[in-house]
Amino acid sequence: MKVLVTGGAGYIGSHTCVELLKAGHELVVVDNFSNSRVDSLEQVEKIAGRSVRIYDVDLLEKEKLAQVFGEHSIEAVIHLAGFKAVGESVEFPLKYYRNNLIGTLNLCEVMSEHEVYQLVFSSSACVYGIPKQTPVPETANLQAINPYGNTKRMLEDMLEDLSSSNENWRVAVLRYFNPVGAHPSGLIGEEPKGTPNNLMPYITQVAIGQLPRLSIFGDDYDTEDGTCVRDYIHVVDLAQGHVSALEHLSTGVHTYNLGTGRGYSVYEVVKAFEEANALSIPVQVVERRPGDAAVSYADPAKAERELGWRAEKGIFDMCQDAWRWQKHRQGGNG
Ligand code: UDP
Repeated sequence: MKVLVTGGAGYIGSHTCVELLKAGHELVVVDNFSNSRVDSLEQVEKIAGRSVRIYDVDLLEKEKLAQVFGEHSIEAVIHLAGFKAVGESVEFPLKYYRNNLIGTLNLCEVMSEHEVYQLVFSSSACVYGIPKQTPVPETANLQAINPYGNTKRMLEDMLEDLSSSNENWRVAVLRYFNPVGAHPSGLIGEEPKGTPNNLMPYITQVAIGQLPRLSIFGDDYDTEDGTCVRDYIHVVDLAQGHVSALEHLSTGVHTYNLGTGRGYSVYEVVKAFEEANALSIPVQVVERRPGDAAVSYADPAKAERELGWRAEKGIFDMCQDAWRWQKHRQGGNG
């Protein structure tokens, strides 16, 4: 298939491009490089041994996006472009509403105009807010508690309405749990700007000596060791989930949790990282971070049943690959 990937140079995007190329699909990438670099796509081409057409386009520039559709016979779109930092979305909500909502609106309009109706959309477990039950099924209540999560929920609603209006649409909504790790080649991975907000990149920066210690946000939660439990999923598994979703698109909107179905506490992740890489990570326990759920992990059964997809990589792979990537970046090649 000829597939357009929006945000293809980013963390999830670059890994998804590798898996799409490996599966034989032809790729056109649009990215505004606001939170990514063109180098990551060069590495993608190196890993996959195939080339990608790249366009520096912002989804807010509808005319430029339409030109890309004019130049290529796009059959399907994997839409990953969007802002994703929860804290920043609380501080600058309008930036998030403008970028995530208008960007997706433009994309869907251009797709309709070019009669492209196959879409894989990147959503987030954030739409569940503080889950009332775990594992979390796709049918759980949607109660996002920050602007980022709200943009994803609103876009899910928009896609439902769109597909109700025209039965040509075939949409998969993928709700990611906690993507971590990097490609085992060490050539692509996550490149957070400034101090990382997320656990795994924070740990790797402590490990390399850029940060003195990990602050654990609370150890008095109602969990076995008092720290929060999350469903960490290797980014390569997640990327393969996109390929499966693309290859199983069917009429209407179908929503899937992408997670492993197993939760790890913050302490367990730190211990796994230390054991997997024979390192020691200094930690200190600090105040809880506002808005954190005690426990969140996926029920991924629907994805396995309908997409034939299941996460295969374990926490050791995630920790080893995250560390390999951190060292590679430190070497100045990342
Ligand atoms: N966390 C932490 N210290 C950090 C970053 C994260 O203790 O520096 C904890 C956070 O409280 C949560 C888990 O690690 O329980 C995962 O956080 P992350 O921000 O990676 O993902 P989230 O699940 O919040 O989207």
